Amino acid sequence: MSTFQAPKGTYDLTPPRSAKFLAVREAISAPLRDSGYGYIETPGFENVELFARGVGESTDIVTKEMYTLTTKGGDQLALRPEGTASVLRAALEANLHKAGNLPVKLWYSGSYYRYERPQAGRYRHFSQVGAEAIGTEDPALDAELIILADQAYRSLGLRQFRILLNSLGDKECRPVYREALQSFLRDLDLDEETRRRIEINPLRVLDDKRADVQKQLTDAPKLRDYLCDACKAYHEEVRALLTAAGVAFEDDEKLVRGLDYYTRTTFEFVHDGLGSQSAVGGGGRYDGLSEMIGGPELPSVGWALGVDRTVLALEAEGVELDLPATTSVYAVPLGEEARRVLFGVVTELRRAGIAADFAFGGRGLKGAMKSANRSGARYTLVAGERDLAEGVVQLKDMESGEQSAVPLAEAAAELAKRLG
Ligand code: AMP
Repeated sequence: MSTFQAPKGTYDLTPPRSAKFLAVREAISAPLRDSGYGYIETPGFENVELFARGVGESTDIVTKEMYTLTTKGGDQLALRPEGTASVLRAALEANLHKAGNLPVKLWYSGSYYRYERPQAGRYRHFSQVGAEAIGTEDPALDAELIILADQAYRSLGLRQFRILLNSLGDKECRPVYREALQSFLRDLDLDEETRRRIEINPLRVLDDKRADVQKQLTDAPKLRDYLCDACKAYHEEVRALLTAAGVAFEDDEKLVRGLDYYTRTTFEFVHDGLGSQSAVGGGGRYDGLSEMIGGPELPSVGWALGVDRTVLALEAEGVELDLPATTSVYAVPLGEEARRVLFGVVTELRRAGIAADFAFGGRGLKGAMKSANRSGARYTLVAGERDLAEGVVQLKDMESGEQSAVPLAEAAAELAKRLG
């Protein structure tokens, strides 16, 4: 151990577990890449105002959890706490929406930062894969994104997740509901902070996890009863498309999510094996966000799936990912001359696309064979002075234990043949 440790609330991804994270990122992004989503990458930090306006001044993310900094030049920046605001900012800046090809469909993968109270499944640095479909209002687009996330989780072998679905209404019906909810909430017995929340963002009070608060909310007005006809029809269409696709979901009228920008469709993926941090992913429609950050009207929808929690969910379900062995051939030289010769063979194998590794550091046979075993290689190549004198190497099949001498000049071709 060095004098230093990973900062509080963070952890390092190290082999072999890190391979799962790569596999999860790959599995989540594959259905997106096959569905017309292009890759986008944005900086790890942005102007702090982008998140204040985009995510919402009253959200926990902005008021409590943002890592903010002032640069030497005086700029106020924040490490990104989420992806949507940055992706929309970048799409607008690059005029992607003006190329006459709406929706602009984008996917991303990266690190996000929130100064949260660390616990299992909740970190200060975490990673997400996300998708955004910008500039089109079409229930099929909302359905597409939910179906693709479902497909991604299933392709990993996850089964114990559920999809929660709700509609938050639009700029016509939500304000009417908001007022009705506020007048209901003002009569409850709540602490000062929650009272303030009633005035700033009353929907989020519904999301309060405390039992004594939840108890008082049983008779709260339901957004469902206030949805305008257009929102109702839109939501019914999303539901019908999901049902037709065979994707099961649960209607959850309490689902509001912690970000201010959502309108209409909102959804969350929860996993039942994760305890209190059960949300593995979430998203929804954010028709007003573009205008909130100074852009044109661009109705959009997106989601972000947490890579860390998806790995935890896989572990909770006991799913073993089918991770490809990283090394197919392991070379063990015995002596100086063999080291040069086998290093050459390894290079040749790698150039031929065969994953190969080498016992570095001039180690003895026993130690080197241990490493060969640990590498998971299917074959080892061993050569000593006598082998070289005879122009051969020993090729050992690690599964059957069979070993045979192969002419040195044919070793690479023979391995290529055996490995198919
Ligand atoms: P959100 O932007 O809060 O909807 O988060 C989307 C997903 O990112 C969640 O469902 C989690 O899987 C993941 N996530 C959010 N915050 C954290 C965190 N602090 N630690 C680990 N994963 C997180």
